[in-house]
Amino acid sequence: MSKEDPQKHVEQLEEAVKGLCPAQLLEDVTDAKKWGRSHGLAPKKGGVIVSTQNTKLAKTGRDKDQEWEAWGLELAAGRSSGYSVCPTAVGERLGCLKYCLRSAGFGAFKPVTNARNRRTKLLFENPTHFMTLLVNDIRVLSCRAKAAGKRLAYRLNVLSDIPWFRIAPWLFDFFPEVQFYDYTKELSSLPSKATKLPENYHLTFSWHEKLSEKQMKGILGQGFNLALIFRGVTPAMTLPHEHWGYDVVDGDEDDLRFLDPQPAVVGLRAKGTLRSREGKGAVEAG
Ligand code: SF4
Repeated sequence: MSKEDPQKHVEQLEEAVKGLCPAQLLEDVTDAKKWGRSHGLAPKKGGVIVSTQNTKLAKTGRDKDQEWEAWGLELAAGRSSGYSVCPTAVGERLGCLKYCLRSAGFGAFKPVTNARNRRTKLLFENPTHFMTLLVNDIRVLSCRAKAAGKRLAYRLNVLSDIPWFRIAPWLFDFFPEVQFYDYTKELSSLPSKATKLPENYHLTFSWHEKLSEKQMKGILGQGFNLALIFRGVTPAMTLPHEHWGYDVVDGDEDDLRFLDPQPAVVGLRAKGTLRSREGKGAVEAG
């Protein structure tokens, strides 16, 4: 695939994956696993290959939300892999990349960034095999969660902003028992008469510097949730109870955004390199 135009990459991915059939993909899982192993994608604990759990995802299910087990697909944010997976990470100082959570937690370590880059390259370089591994992971994780009396929540864009509901609508149909969810900065993902979200897919919209206050309030006004980082609020501090007249949900407590009341502001605290930036007020990073 070409590596020139950031918008083009998602379009090219759409072309490659839109017509795939998940049942058929699973028939070729042995070949896909062989391909994965030869490209550095070894099965991890429990047999999953492309899925991961960061600290926040792993925390989910341990405390108040015992019913859920959360996993996700962690790609390389922006275009650090050579392929653009975040359409808003463009322009001056690469847009939202400067507020990105990619450096938070284990994201500061080279093996983690290398693994994200490898996954992203392989998704674009062999979408069929990669999607086979993804579908197989979700199947394995969902069965495991069910056996433990839980449900699987799967975040497809841990560090990316790919419109999966448009490019691979079959994924949501194939796993009706799985709750998919994401954050997005893409206003074009706002559901309309022409574009409806799958029933098992929840989107929380999130701030980026090209969104005006009017647009953000518009998102809330349409009944959707909006994530904002409240600078100056440390982990020991509580978030404000309301912002712009909407209740603030503490988004750092867990990652189960689909359980949040709507409309609400999802408040987050600055993490990673963002913590040291100056300034107060609400800004967001996905
Ligand atoms: S903030 Fe979100 S959309 Fe922007 S680069 Fe990071 S992961 Fe991508």
